Order: sequence, then C-alpha cells, then structure tokens
Amino acid sequence: MLRRTLVVGNWKMNLTTQQSSLLLRRLQQNIQGHRAVEVVLAPSMLALQPLSVEIDRRKFKLAAQNAYFKDEGGFTGEVSFAMLRGIVSYAIIGHSARRLYFGETLDDVTQKVEAAVRNDITPILCVGETKRERDARETKRVICDQVVSALANLTSAEIDSVVIAYEPIWAISAYGGAVAKPSDVTTVVEYIRLQIRELYGKLAAERVRVLYGGSVDAHDVKGFLSIKGIDGVLVGAASISANKFVNIVSAAYQTHTEVQ
Ligand code: PEP
Repeated sequence: MLRRTLVVGNWKMNLTTQQSSLLLRRLQQNIQGHRAVEVVLAPSMLALQPLSVEIDRRKFKLAAQNAYFKDEGGFTGEVSFAMLRGIVSYAIIGHSARRLYFGETLDDVTQKVEAAVRNDITPILCVGETKRERDARETKRVICDQVVSALANLTSAEIDSVVIAYEPIWAISAYGGAVAKPSDVTTVVEYIRLQIRELYGKLAAERVRVLYGGSVDAHDVKGFLSIKGIDGVLVGAASISANKFVNIVSAAYQTHTEVQ
C-alpha cells in the first residue's frame, strides 16, 4: 500500500510572528502543491493564528507543537486542542523536548492524543529512545511503552488517523545529531507496526503513517524516505531554512514518484 508522503517542519521555539510570515511566504513561492506529498508546518503557538489566515491550504497544513488535554478551565498559560480546532490539522504530541524539558509523562501523552482526536486534530505522536536506553538495549521496551500507552484510549477506527514519528533522541540535532543507520530505523519501524498490528490488527498496521525524525536534511532525506515502512519525515532545524526545506520537499516528491 503506497501511503501519501508526509513532510512536517517543526519550527520549535524559533522565529517571531513576522519572521514566521516571511518564511511562509518564501515557502509558498517555492513549493508546488503535490498530490503525493503532504507538507505540514508547525510554527510557534503565537504564529499559528496569523499563519492560518495567510496559508495556501492547497499546499500546506498547520500543526501545533503542543497543546493541553483539557478543553477549557483554570489552566493558566495553556492552550487547548479545542481552541486549536479549525486552525490546525495536526498536533505534534510527546516530542522529546516536551518529555525531557517539561516532564511530560506517558499519561500526559495518552490524554493529549485522546484530546487531539476528540477535537478532529491528527496527532503526530513522537516516540524515541535516549542514547543511554539504546546502549542498554532498551529501545524496544521504550518504544513499546510509548506507543502502547499513547494509543490506549483510541478505537481501531481512530488509529487510522494517527501518525507516529520515530525520533531516536540521540539523532535529533539539539542533542548531538548522531546519524541513524537505515538498518536501525528499519528495525524500530517494523517493531512499531508490529505493536499496532497486535493491538489493532493488520489493516491498521498497514494504514498508520510512520515518519522518521532526527537531523534530516536535504542531502539525506531520500535515504530515509527509501526505508521500508517510512512514510515521511519530521524535520526540525532544517525546516526554518527556506532553501533547505524547499529541497527536502522536492526530494520527497522525487522519491515518492520513483517508488511508484
Ligand atoms: C525534532 O526536534 O523533532 C527534530 C527532528 O529536530 P532536528 O531535525 O533538528 O534533529
């Protein structure tokens, strides 16, 4: 089954609202809309609203980098998935920065995934092991815990809309950006689909989109997209450079066309 390729740019805590608009404009000028490739931009929370007005929805969709699982109430400083409904199509959930810097627990991630789906927002669930966990051969246990707990409250029909991003933490640029070997990525991606298959059946395992993330750049994106079972990439640092991101999207389009 050939799933649509998904390229997600996580701008992290970079760019003012004005700079975000400028980057969007440059991307809109230089990226063609492709049926085969879906391009999702995740600017800061502050930039989401203005960008939702400026964005060419035939070419791009928006994602939140995070949100809170309660729909409303006395949760000072938080923004809910309910508030983001209609503004974003996707939300990144359980990113390693959230887990490591902000103490996000497995239970928080479960509730956020559920809240996203409840509000018609597709979760991009990030999972991945630290270098210490990998060296201790705990990768599969960590991935299993993260995947199984995050999806615990979803029905098998709801699983269809979930995207899972495998991001080995040691490969993310902010934590050193070591290069992941395709064979390592393949093993984990197969394992993720196996978990989905055991929990939700063969069809769900075939349908779920799995991304790779970790220092992806224009020169290596094709290699990652050629890995069996990978449907796209989650790009951090390179996504705030218009040139690099344009090249990544065009490489994704070429790769998709080549495998057809
Ligand atoms: C990320 O933070 O999700 C990420 C993949 O970042 P980078 O591409 O910069 O490693």
